[in-house]
Amino acid sequence: MKFGGIGLVALAIALVLAVPASAADLLSQTVSAASAVDKSCTSGERSGAGVARRSFTMPAGGEVTARLTAASGDWDLAIVDPSDHRMVAGSAYSGASEVASGFAAVGNNLVVQACRRSGGSSTASLSLESIPIDASKAPTASLVRVATANLDRKNELQGLGLDLTEHGGAGFVEAVLYGPVDAQKLVDNNFAYTTEVPDLSVQSRQDRAADAQFAAANATSDFPSGRTTYRRLFDYSEDMKALVRDNPDLVRPITLNNKSYEGRTVEGIEIATNPSARDGRPVFLQLGVHHAREWPSGEHAMEWAYELVNGYRSGDARVRDLVSRTRTIVVPIVNPDGFNASREAGELYGNGGGHATDLNGDGEVDDVEFIAAASTHINEYRRKNCRFPFGPPAGNCMAQPDQGVVGGGVDPNRNYGAFWGGNGSSDTYVEQDYRGPGPFSEPESQNIRELASGRQITTLITNHTFSGLVLRPPGVAAQGTTVDEPIYKALGDSMAAENGYSSQYGYQLYDTTGTTEDWSYNATGGLGFTYEIGHLGFHPPFEVTVQEWEGTTDYATGGGNRAAYYKAQENTADGTKHSVLAGQALNGYVLRLTKTFDTPTSQDGLTVTDHLDSSMVVNDKKGAFEWHVNPSTRPLVAKSSGRDPTGDPSPPQQFESRGGTTPCADYDTPPPDCYEDHLIAVPSGAGIDNAKATFRIEFSPVSDWDMKIYKADAAGNATGEAVAVSGHGATDGNLGFEEASVLDPAGSYVVRVQNYAAVDPWTGTVTFEGPSPYQAPQQEAYTLSCETPQGVVKSARQVFVARGERLALELRKDCRR
Ligand SMILES: [Zn+2]
Repeated sequence: MKFGGIGLVALAIALVLAVPASAADLLSQTVSAASAVDKSCTSGERSGAGVARRSFTMPAGGEVTARLTAASGDWDLAIVDPSDHRMVAGSAYSGASEVASGFAAVGNNLVVQACRRSGGSSTASLSLESIPIDASKAPTASLVRVATANLDRKNELQGLGLDLTEHGGAGFVEAVLYGPVDAQKLVDNNFAYTTEVPDLSVQSRQDRAADAQFAAANATSDFPSGRTTYRRLFDYSEDMKALVRDNPDLVRPITLNNKSYEGRTVEGIEIATNPSARDGRPVFLQLGVHHAREWPSGEHAMEWAYELVNGYRSGDARVRDLVSRTRTIVVPIVNPDGFNASREAGELYGNGGGHATDLNGDGEVDDVEFIAAASTHINEYRRKNCRFPFGPPAGNCMAQPDQGVVGGGVDPNRNYGAFWGGNGSSDTYVEQDYRGPGPFSEPESQNIRELASGRQITTLITNHTFSGLVLRPPGVAAQGTTVDEPIYKALGDSMAAENGYSSQYGYQLYDTTGTTEDWSYNATGGLGFTYEIGHLGFHPPFEVTVQEWEGTTDYATGGGNRAAYYKAQENTADGTKHSVLAGQALNGYVLRLTKTFDTPTSQDGLTVTDHLDSSMVVNDKKGAFEWHVNPSTRPLVAKSSGRDPTGDPSPPQQFESRGGTTPCADYDTPPPDCYEDHLIAVPSGAGIDNAKATFRIEFSPVSDWDMKIYKADAAGNATGEAVAVSGHGATDGNLGFEEASVLDPAGSYVVRVQNYAAVDPWTGTVTFEGPSPYQAPQQEAYTLSCETPQGVVKSARQVFVARGERLALELRKDCRR
């Protein structure tokens, strides 16, 4: 099968053309506010001593960004349209480093307001710029359902560089097509598809109109927060700030280490009784919005924080128990740049605004407005982050319409280190699953890596949309099931029993590498899951997202994601699902667990060095401590591999085409004149040990042959499902080839070579290999050091602790009473 037909030259030209006109600097000055204003800056127009206001007029339709920095305290920022009270953009981080970006039409008279919320800084520097958007070539985006008869066809589809959704199932994957070029790729590669949504912008308008009706009809929703509309980026900040302010005994703010490309802070909150203590409770991590357009994933992560806080305040026994025995970290928006671009584009369609066709509120639909709406619509379906190595410069993500295959950025959920660079990720900048220039090259994945390396996170959910899935490793079938499969599956199944989703391996959707839990599970041992929330799209009507939470969808079989998250939180608390260290040490001393190791990627010779470093402070008059930790041995080495050989591998066998086939009209049930079957017997007997058979056909790169391997029946005919398939049309220099392996081959096999689009013959070889040397399951240790409250290391020792084990530790004298 061929990869996508667009050459690199064409892509490079498209990229140059995609660079927008240069930015207009509208304002750059120091502003001051004599006193603090105790009112949100992002919920309306503000005035008075705590607010600095500046008016400006949009020189062209497009993107507008305000930035503010102050020396200290909390400042917030907003751009408002006084004529219709539209909140054009906002930024409400807990500090004084703000970035507010939105869209506005030419001639809009706007006000930027800087609000001093608290702290001693009475001045701040404020700048404002606008970038015009020429969206005259923005294509129509449509959602299609592509037939994929088997896993291999799914992976071939993955290779076409289309914008695949996470929505797939038995026999299909859904994809977003950006115009006829994308549709032609499906046709050229014999993929049948049906169109589900011909124009996603029409769908968006309908969905947002439904949201406006829902919000008008309901003062509150069944979400714990009661919200009735999708949050914008600044709403998340406002909500987290309010939770911290109103619940200092229960919630503390977290700022992740790395800012986004556009200079945004990435924030979260930690929820526990005594939230700031460094104790030994296990941690549950809730993540949302790695992918920009997946708005419900941030909503559900954020609502889990409200569920815990509200439940605790109302005296709910289950919540009180969990909040006292665990810690919960919520990072609702991992990718704030991408989310802001997507969410602000979607905002133009409504929540009742009707701005899609009338951006300046003049009551008319004119061309400029329509074009701006069409452009921002494309950004609404942005998936990736806002890395633009070829321009435009930082701050301009929203000014670059994300036009399918020419959309820039890195997929943060293909950028994690473990297995980075393998199947199900692209090395090409413009593709939707572009993995980035190197493992952990992106601030988004690096933030989560650093967070998870410094804490004992025993359970993790990374939320996405959509497909109704609870996914667990492995992301690639060849990795084999994990050493923790029984408890992993049991937890996945029990969560799926609540939300009605399908509990399955990651690769059953399609191959992926470099994902969050690829790394988090294999490096830390904490159980990580991907949720693909819902079935109705990346951000369906808000009411549906509430139903997913409550379990009132048609397919929910229990209490929805709310109930599923309780299962995850209870697993977090359950010491039999991770490990526990217990003992006595001097009160006030610090215990520290460290571990350094190399994590493999999918690229030969490339590894990333991981360093885990977590600590707790002993806080007990008698020095008793209990520390919930992940097992000391990584899952990757806890399993045995290989075996001792019982003989030698057999010599290679050759086979070759007989000629006379014609290209297959139907790939999945091919007519007999389009393929050849070749019978291969695997030698066996005394002195022979064939642990692996590798089938390979080679041909000139102008031809495209595909290969399937079947078990042979007694008559020498193919039987059952294919045991191995290769259909990628890979080339190695001037050679086309297909290659597939069978582990522990026995008996006879039929090699079926299908004529996909071939003009000349092929030659085939089967080679045999003996087993790889036996690798016993390994045990790895943490280094446990004991430090004085001032950080002086008194002693260090190795600690081995297995999953489910509660280990009583006898510490050295200088560390215990
Ligand atoms: Zn996603």
